[in-house]
Amino acid sequence: MPPGLFSKMFDHGSPESQVESLKRTIKERDETIRGLQGDIGNLRYRLTQIPVVYQAWKPGPPIRPLSTSAIGLPCNWLVPCLREIPPELARTFEVQSFSIDSKEVYQVDLASHSCTCPDFAKRRAGLPQGHALRCCKHISWILKEAGLVEAQDELVRRLLDDRGDPERRFLDVDFPHGHVLLEIIPGKEWVNVFAPKRSSKGPGEVSMFGYDQAGKRWSYGTPPFKPTPIKEAINALFCGRSYA
Ligand SMILES: [Zn+2]
Repeated sequence: MPPGLFSKMFDHGSPESQVESLKRTIKERDETIRGLQGDIGNLRYRLTQIPVVYQAWKPGPPIRPLSTSAIGLPCNWLVPCLREIPPELARTFEVQSFSIDSKEVYQVDLASHSCTCPDFAKRRAGLPQGHALRCCKHISWILKEAGLVEAQDELVRRLLDDRGDPERRFLDVDFPHGHVLLEIIPGKEWVNVFAPKRSSKGPGEVSMFGYDQAGKRWSYGTPPFKPTPIKEAINALFCGRSYA
């Protein structure tokens, strides 16, 4: 072996440059460690959130979608014009299916508040005549075309509008003081609450209130009659606590 070759093969430079190189390596390893510590911190945090997420997704019983079991609702959930149908509308109308690929034509009979569509047969036929939720989208459409929807109170208008909007969810919640309707709009942090007003004589007429779930407060600072259980139900709905 020629002299110097051995030292050349393993020559890492002068002792000073070797020290510098080791220092750089140590610095890089330190950075890696700091990064890993950050990752571990994140993972620990995510671990603590798993029970929260699990809770949030756990199904809860007594709040149910408002559809078939809504008998016995306050009387202003009825559509007044369907209780006293104007004579010129007390007849059958033909409405073509709103589905693009369907040529089906349904018969809407306002006199008997009924429709021949599958949705009516499946979910609505059992509700009393005049009930807002007995209106499938075809009945709602005829009422709108006849200009009768504007005259309804806010709750009925919303119930009729809901027919065409699958995103919105109405939930019917039973409280000891009566039914309350919650309108949940996915992606929004407030809930519209249809509940009796406060009055000096107890529950007043049903009106619309807004509850800001993120801020935990009633819109305009105006709560409905007996707001606490309603608030708790909404918070439970959003936070996944049991709302039995
Ligand atoms: Zn229908």
